[in-house]
Amino acid sequence: MRAAILSQGRFTVETVPDPTPGPSTVVLAVSACGLCGTDHSIYSTRLLPDGAILGHEFAGTVVEVGQSVREWAVGDRVAVVPIPYCGHCELCRTGKQNLCATGLGAMMGCGGAPGGLAELVCVPTASLRRLPAALEPPRGALVEPLAVAWHAVKVAGIQPGTRVGVIGLGPLGLFCGMIARQKGALVFGTDARAHRVGWAHDLGLGAFASDDRPDEYIRDLTHGGPDVVFEASGKPESIERAAHLARTGGRVVLVASYHTPAEMTPGHWFNRGIALLPSIAYTREDFDEALEAITNRRVDVASLARRTHPLEEVQKVFDSFSTQTETAKLVIDPSRKTPQ
Ligand SMILES: [Zn+2]
Ligand SMILES: [Zn+2]
Repeated sequence: MRAAILSQGRFTVETVPDPTPGPSTVVLAVSACGLCGTDHSIYSTRLLPDGAILGHEFAGTVVEVGQSVREWAVGDRVAVVPIPYCGHCELCRTGKQNLCATGLGAMMGCGGAPGGLAELVCVPTASLRRLPAALEPPRGALVEPLAVAWHAVKVAGIQPGTRVGVIGLGPLGLFCGMIARQKGALVFGTDARAHRVGWAHDLGLGAFASDDRPDEYIRDLTHGGPDVVFEASGKPESIERAAHLARTGGRVVLVASYHTPAEMTPGHWFNRGIALLPSIAYTREDFDEALEAITNRRVDVASLARRTHPLEEVQKVFDSFSTQTETAKLVIDPSRKTPQ
C-alpha cells in the first residue's frame, strides 16, 4: 500500500507492506483523513520516531476482517475512535475515559498504532463505528474532531440563552460555536485571521477580526461578557485574555493544547470568580453523540471540508497548514491516486 511516512521531519509517500488483520481487527481502506493542530505539532516538534504514519481523524471501508470478527463485514463503512481506552483504570470506570493515560498514550496516528494517512489501516473492532451509507467520507472523518468539541461544550455547561465567546476560529473553535448555538447559546467568536472570521460568518456565527476591537464588542453584545469563553486558539497568552473577556462568575474552557508557559494573574481569576475548565479529547459517548449530530445534520459540518487532497500533497498541506485560506478543515483522501 501507499502511505505518507514521516521521517527526518518530512513526509514522503512510500510503498510499504499491506497490514494484515489480527483476530479481532479489520483492515480499512481509508477514504478520508482529517488533519489538525495535534498532527501539525507532532510534525513540527518531531515528536515521533522516524517512520511514523500520522492521522487520527479518519473514516473508511472494511476490506478484510480478522478470523474472530463476526459483527463486521467487507464493505461496511466506518468511522474510527482512535483512542484505545483501557476500560479498567479508575478514570475509565468513573466516566472520565477522555483522561485515560493508556488510551491517550496509544492513540492511533499519534504514537500508538499507525494512523490514517495511508491507503490501508488495521483497526480493532472495538474502535469501529458504523457510518450510514448517505454520509460521504469527509463528513465521516469530521466525527473525531467534532467529538472533541462536543466534549468541550458538555464541560462548558451550555444551556439555551448561554452567552458564549470563542477565541480562535479554526475547526475546533468553529465546531464549539456551532454545537453551542445548536444548544441554544448566543455565540460570538474572534480570530486574528480575517479568512477565519469569514468562515464563522459563512456558518452564521457572529465573529470579529482583531482590528475590530473584538473583545470590547463581544463584552457589549453579551452585556458584560460571555458566561463561557472557549479558548480554541492554542495561544498560551489567550488564556488570560479569555478571563478578561468572560463575565464575573463566568467560565473559561480550554479546548486547545498548550506547549509553552503563559503569564496569568491569579487574583484576577479569583476576585472575579472565573472558573478554568480544561477539556481534552472525548469519551465513547461523546464520539457516538457527535456521529449522530453529523448524521442527522443537527450540526452541519459539510461546508468545512469541501475538498480533499491526495497523499502526494501531504507535505504541501503541512507546509501551508497555518497560512492556507481555502478550507477550514484539511482532509486527505488516500484513495486518490494522482494530484488534481
Ligand atoms: Zn485531531
Ligand atoms: Zn483507562
